[in-house]
Amino acid sequence: MAPIDEEEARLRVGAPADHAAGLKAVRLSLANAVQKMGVRKTVRNLRTLNQHDGFDCMSCAWPDPQGHRHAAEFCENGAKAVAWEGTRDTAGPAFFAAHPVAELAQQTDHWLEKQGRLTHPMIRREGATHYEPISWADALALIGAHFRQLADPNEAVFYTSGRASNEAAFVYQLFARALGTNNLPDCSNMCHESTGSALMRTIGVGKGSVTLEDLHQADLIVVSGQNPGTNHPRMLTALEIAKRDGAKILAINPLPEAGLLRFDNPQKVRGLVGGGTGLADRLLRIRSNGDLALWQAIGSLLLERGVADREFIASSTVGFDAWAKHVAEVDREAVLAATGLEWAEIEAAADMLASSKRIIHCWAMGITQHRNAVATIKEFVNVALLQGMIGKPGAGLCPVRGHSNVQGDRTMGIWEKPPAAFLDRLSAEFGFEPPREHGVDAADAVRVFRDGRAKVFLALGGNFVAAMSDTEVTAAAMRDAELTVQISTKLNRSHIEAGRTALILPTLGRTEQDLTGGTVQRITVEDSMSAVHASRGRSEPAGPLLRSEVDIICGIAQATLGDRHGIPWADFAEDYGRIRERIGRVVPGCDDYATKIDNGGFTMPHPPRDSRTFPTPEGKAVFTVSPLEVMTVPEGRLILQTLRSHDQFNTTIYGLDDRYRGVYSGRRVVFISAADLAELGFADGDLVDLTSEWQGEERHAARFRLVEYDTPKGCVAAYYPETNPLVPLDSQAEESGTPTSKWVVVRLSPSNSV
Ligand code: SF4
Repeated sequence: MAPIDEEEARLRVGAPADHAAGLKAVRLSLANAVQKMGVRKTVRNLRTLNQHDGFDCMSCAWPDPQGHRHAAEFCENGAKAVAWEGTRDTAGPAFFAAHPVAELAQQTDHWLEKQGRLTHPMIRREGATHYEPISWADALALIGAHFRQLADPNEAVFYTSGRASNEAAFVYQLFARALGTNNLPDCSNMCHESTGSALMRTIGVGKGSVTLEDLHQADLIVVSGQNPGTNHPRMLTALEIAKRDGAKILAINPLPEAGLLRFDNPQKVRGLVGGGTGLADRLLRIRSNGDLALWQAIGSLLLERGVADREFIASSTVGFDAWAKHVAEVDREAVLAATGLEWAEIEAAADMLASSKRIIHCWAMGITQHRNAVATIKEFVNVALLQGMIGKPGAGLCPVRGHSNVQGDRTMGIWEKPPAAFLDRLSAEFGFEPPREHGVDAADAVRVFRDGRAKVFLALGGNFVAAMSDTEVTAAAMRDAELTVQISTKLNRSHIEAGRTALILPTLGRTEQDLTGGTVQRITVEDSMSAVHASRGRSEPAGPLLRSEVDIICGIAQATLGDRHGIPWADFAEDYGRIRERIGRVVPGCDDYATKIDNGGFTMPHPPRDSRTFPTPEGKAVFTVSPLEVMTVPEGRLILQTLRSHDQFNTTIYGLDDRYRGVYSGRRVVFISAADLAELGFADGDLVDLTSEWQGEERHAARFRLVEYDTPKGCVAAYYPETNPLVPLDSQAEESGTPTSKWVVVRLSPSNSV
């Protein structure tokens, strides 16, 4: 059974909040920061967080305002992320000597990260019970030797977390391709891959088409499958600005999240005293996976009402007639079954779209992690194209990314399916022929280790074992690796469930001053709206042995490749400006990158947004037709969606509370409707085990407390990573391969666990 925090015994459940942020958010974030970092470091870090000459928040990818910034340009969660990184606690050689790996395996994810910053390169040698220190020189030589011994470069896998900087990502993909593989899975494979797949096909660019200014100017913002109050809190400020100027918000989500209801902006007196802004004008409490049906119905209703931008459709799109015919025939009964909504609610939502001139569609994991996620996002695009809502101010598509530089990493070439044009430019710049065969994504990375087809796993940040679906399968696959190397700031599950030989390489965080090469280095990042800018930390590093991600990667590359292809790894590590010059020559849209960064940053070109040109094979935006399939659930079963608590960022668990949902001192809860409790013969507070069912296979997660909650009948929710063991590895979104973490068929049984 997975480790369970002893605090779970004290779990309390109260009423969910009806608003987000406010004075409490300020108080909690400051108290937490001071406790972790001390007063001086708290002041220095929070004063420079998200400022023009400061460091970029390492948490979500929400953009910063281009011009004036407030003195406190961050949210509660950004402050938590900074405090988590800036903690005075450390986990060095003495810690590892005192704790055998078998003992660490019994600790929760929260406990592991709470031990503090990693300070020394550590190795667990094959058969050893403990991690022990190793010098940087020996660590790099050992890694290089493993890489050189591979029979085939595709026996290596290079995983990237979305925190890695553009410079680190660029040299990382360069190293992988110089070695000879495109095995570059990343956390995008687990979150917005469905977005990239849908947008590439329909508008020719796999990124959102709006800026922060557009959000402020919109008159309707649709927020689908997203919980901004917890996952992208400063989005609430943008929503508040838009609302103040008369915008309406249509929220579509199974749960009535606090951040969709009301926002008490802590930067405003009104927000501090609880007189905040009501957000959603209409909240559609949709069943999980009902969005494709909903948007086909909305499309049909808009057509019935004669709402169409005929000029835009004629000049800039293809496929309209086939789509219009398809949605005109949409089966109303199927829509009602899939969505769980009343037809009148759907008509009211369609009316909101019909009466709006500038509409932005936002979405996140509640949409992307379904089997039909790509089709659903294509349907957002269909409706946006119908109304001509791309490439004009205040309108467009806004996928909201989860990790601070996940979009930038992809721009830099972290992709198992790199476009040929990117590889051509890489080849021209560096004088070698990169591999053209596609590499493995995150799910395939698990498969190649599980099946013995790969040997070395290198992770640039992140916590792959906890983040990935099917935890036990993933962990077993990692244990089979010959060597795993984790470039990390904190201890996590992936250091425990690691290869036969396992290395931990401690790295600098965003808050810390990077003096690699004897000079102050900056890194660059790209946010969710394609704005690219520099980031520079000022804090003293957590230990003298820490190295930057760029330095570590260049060191490994040098130890592996020597001067093969003549790539100047040492020069790159000495001055990241040299990497930026190469980025400027290799990465499309990054011409004069170094200069633009020196001048304060820039926004990446986006032809649909900038000029209504669509780089698709057809040369136009594409309406697509997706069959409507209503996914059914066997009798007595429920649909589980995994989600985050408010005290959590991705796999990082800051604490055991989720105050917006009224949960304190525990995480092993299942949110379930009163109707399901009654129908299944359970009561609020009962302890249950969860079993997921998938193609004749069963997976188990034990000891969860049922919490009666306002969720649609048949749909339950629980936190990840605790419920990741229930998500089958092979249950993936069509086309994109994203794990279907928002659609897991489960049954409940009384818990026999003690
Ligand atoms: S909204 Fe996201 S990027 Fe901004 S401070 Fe909060 S967590 Fe950081």
